[in-house]
Amino acid sequence: IDDLVRAVNGGVIPEDTAPAGWQERITQGRFDGKTIIVTGAASGIGRATASRIVREGGRVVAVDISAEKLEAVAAGFPEGRVVAVAADVTKQADIDRVIAAAGDRIDGLANVAGINDDFSPIHETSDETWDRVIGINLTGVFRLTRAVVPSMLQAGKGSIVNISSEAGLRGNASGNAYTVSKHGVVGLTRSAAFMYAQQGIRVNAVAPGGVATGIPFPPHVSETGSARLQPFQAAIPSLATAEQLAASITFLLSDDGVNINGAVLPSDGGWSVQ
Ligand code: NAD
Repeated sequence: IDDLVRAVNGGVIPEDTAPAGWQERITQGRFDGKTIIVTGAASGIGRATASRIVREGGRVVAVDISAEKLEAVAAGFPEGRVVAVAADVTKQADIDRVIAAAGDRIDGLANVAGINDDFSPIHETSDETWDRVIGINLTGVFRLTRAVVPSMLQAGKGSIVNISSEAGLRGNASGNAYTVSKHGVVGLTRSAAFMYAQQGIRVNAVAPGGVATGIPFPPHVSETGSARLQPFQAAIPSLATAEQLAASITFLLSDDGVNINGAVLPSDGGWSVQ
């Protein structure tokens, strides 16, 4: 992220550029009594989303592969409002534990967990990189979706928000495996939205542009980094904060998004209109 911040914002982590006080004026209570599963909740966009849901009255099942980071984050929330489940979204047994922790009622799911690829050209991309990026960014979203739908079908309602990316909308925003995974998230979102529209389940996606989070680049990219990353970085108009992304995600997750289904919402400071 250091390279990204340097290239896009002259090295300055962005201040929240939204109108002053916007977070204090947020709608209250949109998640009263609701249980929402958030993956990738120990960092960045997932953490900000979990925090916003709790502040608006919800209970969060916070999922992340990093048990240590997750515990530290969960400790910052009011007692009883967050259930932390250390889990790998690529492992079905872990997902079963997440569903068990959520209990009978699952009102929403935010599929936020994701990783970068190594920006290698296709002819130099290893099977390991491909399988890992597709496994977490796309198959993980499929598995979590598959796991929550039965309880949402029973309730006759539910809201799922998947995190795609600017790289899910175009071919020149990131590396290859990542771009493919995020296009896949768009397809999964639209297909699931159509499939369950009659049963009250809404499925949407948010496509962030550049966001200042801890998302790491693989070490060899950070080391040699800039040459490979520069063409991508140069196109980003601005960096957002994780809280700005949480605002878009919770809009679609909540009843405010009541008539929105199958949408892919760019939340990118205008990058996608270039
Ligand atoms: P982040 O690294 O700060 O947070 C991602 C979290 O996902 C981490 O806590 C990590 O431990 C967790 N995670 C990774 N693999 C996992 C696994 N197998 N199982 C469970 N948890 C796992 O990154 P972020 O920037 O907040 O990214 C969140 C999402 O937003 C990702 O899907 C990312 O692709 C997407 N996104 C980010 C940006 C950006 O500029 N930061 C831009 C577009 C899209």
